Amino acid sequence: MKQKKHSRLLIIGSGPAGYTAGVYGARAMLKPMLIQGIQPGGQLTITTEVENWPGVNEIQGPDLMTQMSEHATAAGTELINDHINKLHLNRHPFEAIGDSGALYTGDALVLATGAQAKWLGLKSESDFKGFGVSACATCDGFFYKGAEIVVVGGGNTAVEEALFLTRFASKVTLIHRRDSLRAEKVLQQRLYNHEKINICWFHEIEEVLGTMSPKGVEGVRVRNVQTGASSVIECKGVFIAIGHAPASELVKDQLDLHQGGYVVTKADSTETSVPGVFAAGDITDYKYRQAVTSAGMGCMAALEAEKFLSEQEA
Ligand code: FAD
Ligand code: NAP
Repeated sequence: MKQKKHSRLLIIGSGPAGYTAGVYGARAMLKPMLIQGIQPGGQLTITTEVENWPGVNEIQGPDLMTQMSEHATAAGTELINDHINKLHLNRHPFEAIGDSGALYTGDALVLATGAQAKWLGLKSESDFKGFGVSACATCDGFFYKGAEIVVVGGGNTAVEEALFLTRFASKVTLIHRRDSLRAEKVLQQRLYNHEKINICWFHEIEEVLGTMSPKGVEGVRVRNVQTGASSVIECKGVFIAIGHAPASELVKDQLDLHQGGYVVTKADSTETSVPGVFAAGDITDYKYRQAVTSAGMGCMAALEAEKFLSEQEA
């Protein structure tokens, strides 16, 4: 028979929101069970310097997440390496089924599944994924020593990736569809001042160009969105950094969603449309999407879950 495990508080997701819910849930004596998913530590494990986590001038993303996971464990949260493929929010206790076949149940549930990288949706992009096309500079930048690289996007991620890739690349071209960036001003200044970085404003990628044998990228065909003119930028690597989509597939028919898939929560709360289910972090946050805001929501979710459980008992 497959394993069955129950906890008063079941947490799904191991980013800043999940781990913080674990710390607070454990301190409320709820003995939380936290399912980590396929990316233990979440999005910050694929970045380098984090410079806006309060109390630390600079810390590597993976180190910060190791510290959070150790903190959650020390507080009394059980971390489980599994990925949930089905959730039943219409049953009580709530049920979650893992890829391992295990059934996890919880009297209250914190959903903290975060967000995933978005792709352009081009066939050629998909053809060369892992062969020159990537969405993670920290993971793949090393492979492009001395090569020319393009990065697509205009937010913090794109600018940080472009700056990071200058460590390896001979030249980095940032391709953006407008003529202004969303990235923080301090990052923009670093980008503009960098001698290896060139910016290609008002352009979109039409096609990733390359060879199939051996499989590899040779360049991108771009289109000027104002004139419609096409041109080719030669490069060996293409880094897509156009944002992230909320990981709400599990609950798409069970919870109210809005803004392209983000879980709706009540004002000033992490309560969702199902009592006892709380959403925290990037899964619900279409506005800020920061580690510190995710952690804040993880705290709120655990406190609200504790209140929900106490009221049920009363
Ligand atoms: P995530 O960090 O997205 O984690 C989601 C978790 O859910 C993962 O552990 C995953 O395994 C798990 N999961 C998903 N689906 C399932 C499932 N079905 N079953 C079980 N588990 C599941 N923010 C900052 O404040 N400062 C920065 O410097 C910064 N740099 C960034 C750099 C990059 C490259 C990126 C992509 C983001 C950066 N951010 C930064 C944003 C920050 O990483 C996010 O706001 C934050 O990680 C969101 O936390 P979260 O807890 O909501 O979820
Ligand atoms: P983002 O802020 O949503 O920016 C996405 C960028 O990609 C935008 O510039 C957008 O263009 C562009 N884009 C979107 N779809 C596109 C498409 N199909 N084709 C071409 N371009 C496209 O995403 P992000 O940069 O990943 O950041 C996500 C969140 O994480 C943000 O809240 C950010 O602050 C946070 N984050 C923080 C840090 C940090 O604090 N250091 C680092 C990384 C991320 P438009 O501008 O034209 O819409």
